[in-house]
Amino acid sequence: MTRVEKFALHIPSLEEIVGVLQNGLKENYADVQVCVVDCPDLTQKPFSFPVKGICGKPRIADVGGVPYLMPRVQKDKVYDLNSVAKEIQLPGAFVLGAGAVSSRIVGGNAELIPIVHTQHDSKPAINGSYMARISDTDGGCLLEKYSTKHQDCEFGLLANLYASEGRPGKVIEVKANRRTGEQNFISCIRKALEKHYGDKPVGMGGTFVIQKGKAKIHVMPSEFSTGPLNTDEDVNSWLKFFEMKAPLICQPVLVSRDPGFDLRLEHTHCFSHHGDGGHYHTDTTPETVEYLGYFTPAEYLFRIDRPKETHMVGRD
Ligand SMILES: [Zn+2]
Repeated sequence: MTRVEKFALHIPSLEEIVGVLQNGLKENYADVQVCVVDCPDLTQKPFSFPVKGICGKPRIADVGGVPYLMPRVQKDKVYDLNSVAKEIQLPGAFVLGAGAVSSRIVGGNAELIPIVHTQHDSKPAINGSYMARISDTDGGCLLEKYSTKHQDCEFGLLANLYASEGRPGKVIEVKANRRTGEQNFISCIRKALEKHYGDKPVGMGGTFVIQKGKAKIHVMPSEFSTGPLNTDEDVNSWLKFFEMKAPLICQPVLVSRDPGFDLRLEHTHCFSHHGDGGHYHTDTTPETVEYLGYFTPAEYLFRIDRPKETHMVGRD
């Protein structure tokens, strides 16, 4: 049996979070506007998700972890999003987030951008995920719709997931333009929450669009590292970094502070409609960047298959 731990997160009102983020983000962006809105219809472009919203029984799952990828890969660590939905007590959940593909299915390593309406009763899963891998021919990024190649909902090694019933509802809209500080969009939001809520962890997920500018994105190579990855320097020389252009549709998962579950506190993967996608680090165009995001606070945090031996390498 997979080990599943459950934790009740602190759930502030949307209005209260609006105030906290408005204050926190203005230290990092020139123009900031945060408010409560009805979730836009996410079946529409640029999202094209299989469900309309990110509301209803919101929860976060941190599955596996970086220690299964490094110093040495553990290829037997594979999971299934339909099973995860049951383990977080929300079968049929709509799941967004950031993870790694199952290398036994895909035939190599790659970034997974999970966007899945998991199976429920007799309805099969709708897998709208993307995967970003390194092309064997030119070493560039190859972004593909997962369902064009594979029929399953597997993933490998690690994932940070935001799950909900996928319903319409009230969400927090965040607009932030022109970066004046050093933090990326999600770090800035997470740190604002941590500063305000301290040891009461707040978790959030959703989606945001980098509407203008460019961003620093990494994609893991198809081949796992042959030597051990022991330091952040080892990891960064193994990863492939790109500057990718907007619009990038990003799926963030964040928890303001770790209540003791060896969490990855923030993790964001993105896709686009022009072939770019991967793991978001930050924008590279502070003068022109424009962010537009929709978030909801999660009620519960689930820690699934937490590694027994851990370290803090490769968590950026
Ligand atoms: Zn990642």
